Amino acid sequence: MSLELSRKALSVKPSSTLEITAKAKEMKNLGKDVISFGAGEPDFDTPEHICIAAKRAIDDGFTKYTAASGITELKEAIVKKFRNFNHIEYIPEQIVVSNGGKHSLTNVFSAIINEGDEVIIPAPYWLSYPEIVRLAGGIPVIVRCSKANNYKITLDDLKGTWTEKTKALILNSPNNPTGMIYDRDDLQVIADFAVEHDFYVVSDEMYENLCYGKEEPVSIASLNDEIYKRTITVNGLAKSYAMTGWRIGYAGAPLEIAKVMGSVQSHQTSNPNSIAQMAALAAISGDQTCVRVMNAAFDERRKYTYDRVCDIEGLSAIEPKGAFYVFVDASELIGKKYKGQEITGAADIGKFLIEDYYVAIIPCDDFGFSDHFRLSYAISVSEIDKGMDRIKEFCESLTE
Ligand code: GLU
Repeated sequence: MSLELSRKALSVKPSSTLEITAKAKEMKNLGKDVISFGAGEPDFDTPEHICIAAKRAIDDGFTKYTAASGITELKEAIVKKFRNFNHIEYIPEQIVVSNGGKHSLTNVFSAIINEGDEVIIPAPYWLSYPEIVRLAGGIPVIVRCSKANNYKITLDDLKGTWTEKTKALILNSPNNPTGMIYDRDDLQVIADFAVEHDFYVVSDEMYENLCYGKEEPVSIASLNDEIYKRTITVNGLAKSYAMTGWRIGYAGAPLEIAKVMGSVQSHQTSNPNSIAQMAALAAISGDQTCVRVMNAAFDERRKYTYDRVCDIEGLSAIEPKGAFYVFVDASELIGKKYKGQEITGAADIGKFLIEDYYVAIIPCDDFGFSDHFRLSYAISVSEIDKGMDRIKEFCESLTE
């Protein structure tokens, strides 16, 4: 025997979104005037009625183990939400409540992947997808989507990527990091292809409440029975209800998959936190005014951030329609110089911005686009204003 560590675990990189955000927080704590466009984390407090429900859970002694896959009342509330909001019919046994969206995804891939199965991931993608797939023994197959097509995967992309080993496709709409939203027609094309070639669609709908203007989220599982049978719909409370720290995610899945996910979870973590489940119940079944209020604030920030990006020479972006990110194309800056040092990718831009301008951005190497960076606009307009001034100053300082 040797003392070698797990090769699979060693191949996983720590989450750079979380790392950069932690670094920005640390600098702030040291008194630096840092503007963080880092992690996608609402700056709002968790709404009061949700916190009250959690406090009540503690006072009522709701602090013991619950059913491993979540309490029935919460599953019933999720079923109702799926029916009314997403037009998908599930029964409570098809719902698995987990410790955040990442955990839901981990359970999904544990349930469906056999060693060597391929999972198609459209790029740009949220950086955790490939790692979660790899940890489950799968092989991420990355498809680079074009800016001209709003970074959406096309039928030709699917045809060019599908193999006999394709087990699943990950869809994320509204999308992190681009903010694009797949419409019904886009989804119909993808659904038809998935049904014809018989693979799963893992639909991450974490940002469904963050659609702006006339945009409406559409759940692929709602399109017809055949795609419903092949879809696992993943969601969570973090973004919609400003509940990032509470760690509640959930999935709706075909019954046999939900059972496997539940049994995996029963050994790995047991139930998600009992108090957070009560808070989630209050969030999902309570008054949704808080969601609308936060949505309106994000919409204002979205327009402002996007306009400011468009105003900077060398940067461009597609107009985000959902989530709270602007995906900035910085390819025109590559090859330019900052204080004599060549910019070779967005990672250099991120480094110079945090070191010299106290602005945290997310370089998108880990999202599959090394010449783009992501701005999260889940911060106040005055902070966005200040941060964008600094980014502009940085860009203007570059030389040929
Ligand atoms: N999902 C958020 C983001 O993309 C939170 C950080 C993370 O978990 O990666 O910023």
